[in-house]
Amino acid sequence: MRVGFVGLGAMGEHMARNLHKAGLLSAVWNRTPGKAQSLSAELGVPATATLAELAARVDAVVSCVSADADVLEVTNALAPGLAAGAVVIDCSTVAADTARRAADVLRPAGAVFLDCPVSGGVEGARDGTLAVMCGGDPEAFERARPVLQAMGRTVTLFGPVGSGQAAKATNQIMCAGIIEAVAEAMAFARAQGLPLEKLIDTLGKGAGSSWYFVHRAPNMVRGAYPAGFRVRLHAKDLTICRDMAARFGVSLPVVERMLGEYAELIARGHGDEDISATFRLKAELFEPADGKPRS
Ligand code: NAP
Repeated sequence: MRVGFVGLGAMGEHMARNLHKAGLLSAVWNRTPGKAQSLSAELGVPATATLAELAARVDAVVSCVSADADVLEVTNALAPGLAAGAVVIDCSTVAADTARRAADVLRPAGAVFLDCPVSGGVEGARDGTLAVMCGGDPEAFERARPVLQAMGRTVTLFGPVGSGQAAKATNQIMCAGIIEAVAEAMAFARAQGLPLEKLIDTLGKGAGSSWYFVHRAPNMVRGAYPAGFRVRLHAKDLTICRDMAARFGVSLPVVERMLGEYAELIARGHGDEDISATFRLKAELFEPADGKPRS
């Protein structure tokens, strides 16, 4: 299978490299052409001038762009070049409705859309260990499986188009609740005067532990939040969760609380920090900057 890659960002560049290692990568395209040109020169894979040109060279396209409007823009631009039976595998995190709209764009050309958002962060993209949550036609999914397995360790089809995004939204709600609990607990522990590194070591093996506790509580001890999963990206994902829940007339408390916390962090200039920066606000519950406790 010849595969083209679109969107060589923090995630996409690693994913494209893993496709190349698997012998699948046939062409690359990026909105800012310099990124595609340097990867092209390094890997010896052509960088096309347009998305339609990339589409015409391949059997499958993997895209990993930012948000809903970007996925629709890219899909519309790919459509004229795609052959019947070609598969577009979109790994961006967007709304399930956007995935269904993108599938509608491709249907007249006989091309197929799979929504395949990923979890595992930049580390997972680099190591090829992403969890990939898919929605779409089962036969197209089976054809795409080798491509997905070159980028991820766990590859699961959940149902029709949009199901992958629904599974990813579920994951993002869990991340919100867990990072909030970890930040709150760490602020509490610090106020108790506990030795925090020893605490992470011990509680990291206990029932309340999680990936976020083990890997991100140390950021809270150091007071440094280098971009792993950016606050503004998680806020985007939680807005998707909010909209999906609103269709049922439901407002989700964890989602609403974390959207509030992220809005505050973004307003203070911390939107590009890792979501463990939530600790900044939780610490203020105990040590308010203005002397007044936050509620
Ligand atoms: P990123 O570093 O900001 O990269 C975004 C990529 O999308 C860039 O290549 C950008 O092109 C391209 N792009 C954006 N809008 C576009 C448009 N309208 N047309 C064409 N290309 C466009 O983002 P990322 O961290 O790789 O994340 C990509 C997606 O994966 C997002 O949906 C994110 O939520 C999801 N995700 C991220 C993580 C993570 O830990 N970072 C984890 C799981 C899932 P330019 O180079 O021209 O800007």
